[in-house]
Amino acid sequence: MDLTAIQALAAPHFLDIFGAFHATPEDGCASGTMVLLSPLEPGFWAHFQNQPEFSGPDPMDRWSTRVIGALASTLGGTAHFPFGGPPYAPFIRWATRTGRAWPSPVGMLVHDTAGMMISIRGAVLLPGQLDLPALQASSPCADCAQPCLTACPVGALGPQPYDVPACHAHLDSPEGADCLTRGCLVRRACPISQRFGRDPAQTAHHMRHFHK
Ligand code: SF4
Ligand code: SF4
Repeated sequence: MDLTAIQALAAPHFLDIFGAFHATPEDGCASGTMVLLSPLEPGFWAHFQNQPEFSGPDPMDRWSTRVIGALASTLGGTAHFPFGGPPYAPFIRWATRTGRAWPSPVGMLVHDTAGMMISIRGAVLLPGQLDLPALQASSPCADCAQPCLTACPVGALGPQPYDVPACHAHLDSPEGADCLTRGCLVRRACPISQRFGRDPAQTAHHMRHFHK
């Protein structure tokens, strides 16, 4: 089994490999190869809307549990999910351990292909150490004009710690409609996010979940 074979199994479910790393007990899990999975774009949202979990509570989490649970079983691994806690698995640490995600200037992670449109749906821990590809060594933020720092119209997300109440207050106002329906302006300002191809309807779904 290698990452290419795992990618081929995940792709029909519109899942992609976010990244992978050789895990040790210091990562808060058993030793092995941890493979993180996230939406394959473009096309994830159109696929997800036709899944049985789409109607009903917590559709994305229930779908992730079913699909990634089945993938883990097929691969002889163990499924892990970023929801369902407490306790919560340390997915932010795991994301940075892949070498494909870094803290951005506004604090949240930025990924080499998803930008700030990160939505890790789960992970599979496989026994043993799979061969992993050599990776880009540094964050894309070093060579960027950093528009994420100034994109929030109320300064809720910027160089200072995230002001969650200020963000929700803006979303409650008429001026917040753009963020609610098309997504956080900070995440959208990132040039990598813009290339990623996520359907704005998926972003609106996440915003409704965040601001309910
Ligand atoms: S959702 Fe809108 S108000 Fe909230 S942090 Fe993002 S840009 Fe700012
Ligand atoms: S806008 Fe630039 S600095 Fe900000 S997260 Fe994206 S790549 Fe990094």
